[in-house]
Amino acid sequence: MLRSAGILVLFLWLLPPSITAQEPKALPEPDERYKADILAVVAHPDDEAAVTPYLARALDEHKRIAVVFGTHGSSGANEAGAEQAAALGDVREIEARNALMTLGINRVWFLSGKDTATQDVLVSLANWDHGETLEQMVRLVRLTRPEVILTFLPGTFIGEDHGDHQASGVLATEAFDLAGNPAVFPEQVSGPMKRLEPFLENLRPWQAKKIYYFPDAERKDIFRGKGPSYSVKEISKLSGKPYWRMALDAFRAHQTQAKSYLDRIAQMDEAQIEKMATSDGWGEDQHYVLGKSLVGGSVTGDIFEGITPGAIPFVRPEVAPQPVQPDLSIELAGPWSFYAEFRRAHGLTSLPHPEPPEIALQGPGTLVIPLWMRNQTPKAQEVTRSAALPAGWSVENGTGEFMVAAKQTAAARVEVNLPAPPENNTKQAQTVEVTVRAEANGQAIGEAKLRVELRKRALPQ
Ligand SMILES: [Zn+2]
Repeated sequence: MLRSAGILVLFLWLLPPSITAQEPKALPEPDERYKADILAVVAHPDDEAAVTPYLARALDEHKRIAVVFGTHGSSGANEAGAEQAAALGDVREIEARNALMTLGINRVWFLSGKDTATQDVLVSLANWDHGETLEQMVRLVRLTRPEVILTFLPGTFIGEDHGDHQASGVLATEAFDLAGNPAVFPEQVSGPMKRLEPFLENLRPWQAKKIYYFPDAERKDIFRGKGPSYSVKEISKLSGKPYWRMALDAFRAHQTQAKSYLDRIAQMDEAQIEKMATSDGWGEDQHYVLGKSLVGGSVTGDIFEGITPGAIPFVRPEVAPQPVQPDLSIELAGPWSFYAEFRRAHGLTSLPHPEPPEIALQGPGTLVIPLWMRNQTPKAQEVTRSAALPAGWSVENGTGEFMVAAKQTAAARVEVNLPAPPENNTKQAQTVEVTVRAEANGQAIGEAKLRVELRKRALPQ
């Protein structure tokens, strides 16, 4: 008996594989319920109002929409109740979901970023745990497989210039360039080899086709003509209301952020609401800036121009070459040099940005000008830094003579004391230029320039 069982086992080994192999069966496909045409990526609950007038139009065109928030908004104000901090974040998550549900959008996710009171995108990215939130963002692109990503323009400007808004634009851009690459977060795009294997995610790489930005900047001129514009006054086929009005109705969910404003609106009749909308922004056209398109189309054409159904292959971003630096040079560092690198790394060198770079700050206060001083010569160099400032401004520290070692790039900073902003002055009059100049061996080696607006209130630098 034992002997014949052994022969049977041996015999099974020798059978051709087609007899013992599993019957072929279709592999599970991605879940269609989560497929999006548009993925909007913003920072805080209520930031979605920057795009809801356009999203209301896109719903008319039967577009499937998903929205990602970077934070729960836990350090915002609360006009509706006592809840603060993490508890407020829980409340604001529901407000954001309710706002979007008003439009019928229920595919809404939150990254684990945290509110950061800064204009410096690098500080926001650090506070968001950049690596972790990027992994989450890439996962959501692979899950929702968007045709188009809409997000805040990654750049620093005079405006609200919120570091968190910028961070959402940075993460969305990085995810646009990474989600289609199977070598990035490969555990997300690997399938389990064993039954009930609980770690691998079985997503597929996904290359979105276009990315568009909306800027968080006061000046509009440099962005005009860089992408499509949409009137918000047309009437929605779905609701019979203008798009701006649908967006305002959605915004009513944000009681913690705007209860007094929303209570005022609740007292108004239709004519009064319409009049208010023309003065406070709801009635303004929506302007977008084309970041990049992998499917052609014109710069100012419709967001969906050139987009056809189906996946496209992964496209590696075209990295622009590093500009040639003189042997001795000085340049702005911090977020300004980061964005120069970012635009080069992501094929966004035509993305509009102000020249000279600009910032709005609270006065009295301090302006910190971060600098790189490069010395590629084979010997140490004495570099003299000086600052040209408007009347009433003074250098706190950072000017004078400094040694920069041979073949070294040294970090430096100039700190400037800011006066109070002049009373009753126009914004134009309050905007001034600050220049840091550097000399070595009696020769100018470069300068770093900033346009600065003084305000009574601004986010910390
Ligand atoms: Zn915000």
